[in-house]
Amino acid sequence: MTSKVYWGSPRQAQIGAEETLPAKLDLILNRLNLRDRVKGETVVIKMHTGNNIITSTIHPVFVRKVVKAIRDGGGKPFVADVNWDTTGAEERGYSSETLGCPVYPAAGPDEKYFYVHEKKFKNLEAWKVAGNIQDATFLVDFSHIKGHPSCGFGGAFKNIALGCMVGETRGAMHDTVHFDKYWFAEKCPDEAMRKKIIDSCPFGALVQDRKDPRELHLHTEPCNQCGRCLKVAPAGSLKIDPVNFRAFMEACAISTSITLSTFAPGKATYISLATQMTPVCDCFGFTGMYILPDAGIFGSDDIVAVEQAVLDATAKLPLIEENMTASLRKYLGHEGHPFARMHGPLKDPYKVTEYGEALGLGSRQYELIDVLPVDENAEPSRWFISAT
Ligand code: SF4
Repeated sequence: MTSKVYWGSPRQAQIGAEETLPAKLDLILNRLNLRDRVKGETVVIKMHTGNNIITSTIHPVFVRKVVKAIRDGGGKPFVADVNWDTTGAEERGYSSETLGCPVYPAAGPDEKYFYVHEKKFKNLEAWKVAGNIQDATFLVDFSHIKGHPSCGFGGAFKNIALGCMVGETRGAMHDTVHFDKYWFAEKCPDEAMRKKIIDSCPFGALVQDRKDPRELHLHTEPCNQCGRCLKVAPAGSLKIDPVNFRAFMEACAISTSITLSTFAPGKATYISLATQMTPVCDCFGFTGMYILPDAGIFGSDDIVAVEQAVLDATAKLPLIEENMTASLRKYLGHEGHPFARMHGPLKDPYKVTEYGEALGLGSRQYELIDVLPVDENAEPSRWFISAT
């Protein structure tokens, strides 16, 4: 199956509002027929409202366009995100006045409103879907694309996978990376060797267990799989294994499938904005320098296809190395997707689309449809700043 992905290029032929990304979002919403699909629906717009002083989350101008389309179509929209991001969201420009709809904590102010779904995966058995998400009848998954230290990047999947579950489930999903054993204490002779192994990591990714000093923990977020620790560790004592890194990505795909199962067929659509892409997640609460040129805006009714299209587009872009932190640049890999070059090859960003396709959530085959192709032969034109 080949799915359609509508794309608004970040490029313009002329200086004019009609060729900008917010204008192209309108064209994408038309192609997705959003207005015709939401009459009488309670529509949750799941987005990341950021944290603290971040400025690179989706600008309210984009969100308001989605809200307006839903209202035009007779739907009842609201924006939702996890409680610690919606608290203070107005400081980052997200309020009912700016967006045209309310902003709710997805599982209530204290995350006490949720539905439990049972599915065994590593350490996880109960997945708690935020109540306000499950109660909605239509989902607009509006994601901002950026790097991510746990899984290489965050996009359409991660916006749902983490943002639609309560904190307890989010924590358990992160803990899946520790489920499969990677440290074998019996193969390490003494404390001096353990210290040597810990000290070998330039990122501080290896730490001693607080309760049992013979145990080591690998924090996969800062680990870029450089292998320095393996050169120091006695044979068989430590593994830097794909199974640990991929556990979180598979958990993201499973989590997404659980949340999407609460919506009727055809009652979800996906929009991804690939601009102002920073090395880490929007929940870090700040905006670092952008590490990739903008890739535009994408929309589809197929979550796998839209994620694949975003990854294929960003794969072609050069990392802006001078914008990267010195620490990231120092150990930059030289092959693979830019997000994997930055966070390590075992955080292959494509994995989540593979898991998602295997779960039946969509297709990695897609047709990319440019909603407003750039006229490469455009004549120079006179331009002026419009008052409206
Ligand atoms: S592979 Fe490199 S980054 Fe990861 S824990 Fe070992 S030394 Fe640290």
